[in-house]
Amino acid sequence: MRVKLVCVAGGRPNFPKLAALFRALGTRTDRFETRFVHTGQHSDPRMSKLICEELGLPEPHVDLGVGSATHAVQVAEVMRRFEAVLQAEQPHGVVVAGDLNSTLACALATSKFFRDEPFPFRGKPRRRTVLAHLEAGLRSFDDDMPEEVNRRVTDCLSDLLFVSEPAGEANLCREGVAPERQHFVGNVMVDTLLSLQARAAASDVLARLGLEPRGYALLTLHRPSNVDDERQLRTLLDTLDEIAIELPVVFPVHPRTRARFEAARIRPRSERFLLTEPLGYLDFVKLESSAKVVLTDSGGVQDETTVLGVPCITLRNNTERPITVTEGTNVLGHTTREGILGAYAALHREPRSGRVPRAWDGNAAERAARVLEQAFA
Ligand code: UDP
Repeated sequence: MRVKLVCVAGGRPNFPKLAALFRALGTRTDRFETRFVHTGQHSDPRMSKLICEELGLPEPHVDLGVGSATHAVQVAEVMRRFEAVLQAEQPHGVVVAGDLNSTLACALATSKFFRDEPFPFRGKPRRRTVLAHLEAGLRSFDDDMPEEVNRRVTDCLSDLLFVSEPAGEANLCREGVAPERQHFVGNVMVDTLLSLQARAAASDVLARLGLEPRGYALLTLHRPSNVDDERQLRTLLDTLDEIAIELPVVFPVHPRTRARFEAARIRPRSERFLLTEPLGYLDFVKLESSAKVVLTDSGGVQDETTVLGVPCITLRNNTERPITVTEGTNVLGHTTREGILGAYAALHREPRSGRVPRAWDGNAAERAARVLEQAFA
């Protein structure tokens, strides 16, 4: 049987994960037929089209075009439109990634979808479409983080949970997810990073922005808890202004953050801040690799800096990726002036080189593809 898999991406952090899976499934076209569904949660071309092209993702078979909206409206719209895709495509499986609203919405729609025809799954006939989750088990234990809800619900609905780090397995076991649903495969995002590292190294972004290797800090900021609250955003920018006195700060501004700057009429004060539009993946990875330090509230950037061996200060009070702290180059800077400047000073005293976690080796998607092969039999 040729297994039909619908693979879903909603926005920027999903694309590197799916690109890795498409590469692994692309060598197994005798076993798998794939469809790429883009929900359109991130519709800005710099957050989507450019990155998809650089990553070699296929053109989406379907673009649901949902755009921005409140959580409930976005989830409802994705569910409504994705259910029509399920009906038309009749997939054996759906693969979702990460923790976006689109991830949750497509997981929920899939969990109640029955194909017209039965198919074999783990040695038994089944009609309900199988749900697989890439990057399962991560938990920040912070229920104020919208993504945490998306992670928990998606995991409890998934049949195949592809786990990237040991904490993921521990979290799933604690939540009662049966061991046979869990598959430790490693970090699929790292597959893409390693496969494109040489191309990223050739990017001329440093010259374009007038930067020297290790002569700048790279900043990303977009978590609602950091940018939606004006006081918190001001505290962060004032603190980062202090760092900019010592080290220029390159800041590709996320559209959500740009909108907050405009609404609250605030922005960094220091002239040593270099604000850019969101960057393509290759330019961004080049900037990450050559930075003296990366300051971020992104999830994926914590993983990438650990693999690149670049110091990372996470501008949050928690991380769902604890291995980046225990083994990698990441430290929690929290969200206060004292926390961030303390972490920055500590880096100077004692730079962290870290080590690359187990199975963050470029072959995670290959391992996931093997699990998929065995499961649909
Ligand atoms: N990224 C990018 N351009 C940028 C900033 C980030 O290509 O200007 C990439 C980055 O390399 C990583 C992914 O976007 O692969 C992380 O996505 P994001 O920070 O938006 O989401 P999160 O990981 O926090 O969910």
